[in-house]
Amino acid sequence: MSQNFERLFDDVCHHARRAAMLTSISALLEWDERVYLPAAGSEYRAEECTYLAGMMHERWIDAKFGDSLAALAESPLAVDPASDAAVVVRRLKHQRDKKIKLPQSLVEELARTAVLGQHAWQEARKQNNFGMFRPLLEKTIDLKKQQAEALGYADCPYDALLDDFEPDERTANIRRALRDLREQLVPLVAAIGASAKRPKTEILKRPFPVAQQEAFGKLAAAAIGFDFEAGRVDVTAHPFCTTLGPRDCRITTRYHEDFFPAAFFGTLHEAGHGMYEQGLPAENYGLPTGEAISLGVHESQSRMWENLVGRSKSFWKFFYPEAKKQFPQALDGVSLDDFYFAVNDVRPSLVRIEADEATYNLHILIRFELEQDLLDGKLAAADAAEAWRDRYRQYLGVGSPTDADGVLQDVHWSAGLFGYFPTYSLGNLYAAQYFEQARKELGDLDAMFARGEFRPLLDWLRANIHRHGQCYTAAELVERVTGKPLSHEPLMRHLRGKFGELYGV
Ligand code: ZN
Repeated sequence: MSQNFERLFDDVCHHARRAAMLTSISALLEWDERVYLPAAGSEYRAEECTYLAGMMHERWIDAKFGDSLAALAESPLAVDPASDAAVVVRRLKHQRDKKIKLPQSLVEELARTAVLGQHAWQEARKQNNFGMFRPLLEKTIDLKKQQAEALGYADCPYDALLDDFEPDERTANIRRALRDLREQLVPLVAAIGASAKRPKTEILKRPFPVAQQEAFGKLAAAAIGFDFEAGRVDVTAHPFCTTLGPRDCRITTRYHEDFFPAAFFGTLHEAGHGMYEQGLPAENYGLPTGEAISLGVHESQSRMWENLVGRSKSFWKFFYPEAKKQFPQALDGVSLDDFYFAVNDVRPSLVRIEADEATYNLHILIRFELEQDLLDGKLAAADAAEAWRDRYRQYLGVGSPTDADGVLQDVHWSAGLFGYFPTYSLGNLYAAQYFEQARKELGDLDAMFARGEFRPLLDWLRANIHRHGQCYTAAELVERVTGKPLSHEPLMRHLRGKFGELYGV
C-alpha cells in the first residue's frame, strides 16, 4: 500500500519537475527578451511564450496529476504536515486547485486585458491623462472581482488575490501591521523633514564612470556572497532577478553616470534576491521544497542586503576605501561620514521607486489602501486620481501635481497585479525582524561588516530561511525563527535608531 503511494509520489514529483522545466525555458526566453532581444523579434517571442504558457497550463490541469495529488493528500505520506512529501503535495495541490477553479474564458480575458491595459497605461502615462486609462482600470477591477469570487476567500476578496503573491497571508493581518507602522512612521518622517541637518547629496551626483561602477558593484555583490559561478549580472532598464535553473540565477542592474546609488544599491538588492535563490536546496529544484516561500520573504532578503547591510555605517567602513580607489575624482575630499549620510538621505517624494528606507512604506500603504477600496467598491475608478493626491498629502506631505507622477506611476494595476504591493512592505518588516534576530544570535554584526565578513549573516539566512524552501508559511517561519509574529516594531527600532542619530531627531 505505502509502496504504491511512494511510486505515486515519485510520479507527481516527476510531473512537477517537468512543469518547472517549461517554466525555466519560458524564464530564459523572457530574460533574453529583456536583455538582448532585438525589437523586431518581439512578436515571435510573444508567440513562443504564449505557446509555452499553454503547455504549462495543460500540465497543471492534467486530470491524472490531480487525482494523484488528491490520493496522496489523504495518504500516510501526508500525515506529518512538516514532512517533505506532505509539503510537496500540499503546495502543489493548492496551486492546482486554484488553476482549476478559474474558467478558461476568465483566464484568457485577464491575459488579454493585461496586454491592453499595459498598452493603454503607457500611452496615458506619456500623455499624462488618467482618463485614457480609466476604462481599462474599470475592466481590470471587474475581472479581478470575478477572479476573487471564482477562487473563494476567507474574509474579503483581496485575500484571494493576495494569495498569488503571499500564500496563506491575510489582508486583515497586513492591514493591522501597516496601520501600526503608519502611526509611528508619519511623525518620524515629519520630524526628519523638520530637522536642520541635511546630507550633502550632490556628492552622489558627480560623474561616476560606468566601467568603475560595474567593477565596484560586482566586487560588492561577490563579497556579500552572490555566487558568480552560478549567476551573472547584466544591464536592463528595469532591474530584476530570475532563476533559470538550480545553478543559474540572473540579476540585472542599470547604470547612471551621474548618480551613484541607483546601480550600486540596485545590484545589492538584486543580489539579495539572487542569494536566496542560490540558497534554496538545488536537489529540490522544481518542487515546492526547492522554491521561495513568497514575494514578501523574497523581498526581505533583497531589502536586508540593500538597506540593513548596504546602507549601514559598518558596511561603508569596509567598502569606502575601495570606493575612493574606484572613484578618485568624484569622492575627492569626501569623508566617510558625509558619504554615509548622503546614501541615507530621507526625503518625502512623489515617486515610489526613488523613495528612501523611511518613506518607502508610506508609498506602499497608499497603494494597498486604494486597491482595497477599488475592489470593495468604496472608491470608483473615476475618483482614483484624486484619492491618490489626497493620500499623498496626508501621509507624505507632498502634493501630486500630475497623473503621470500620481495614479499612473506604477505598472502593476495595468498588468492586473492587484494584491502585489503589500509584499514590498512585508519584505521590509520581515527584513528588520530577521535582522534583529540574527544580531541577537550572531553577536556584533557591525564589527563583522567593518572587517568585510558577511559570511556569518549569509550562513544564518541559509540555515534559518533559505534551506527550508516552502516547508513553512511566511507567518510560521517568522515565529519559528524570531519567536514572535510579524511586527512593525523591529523596523521602527531600526529606523528610529539610524535616522535619529543622523538627523538628530
Ligand atoms: Zn525586490
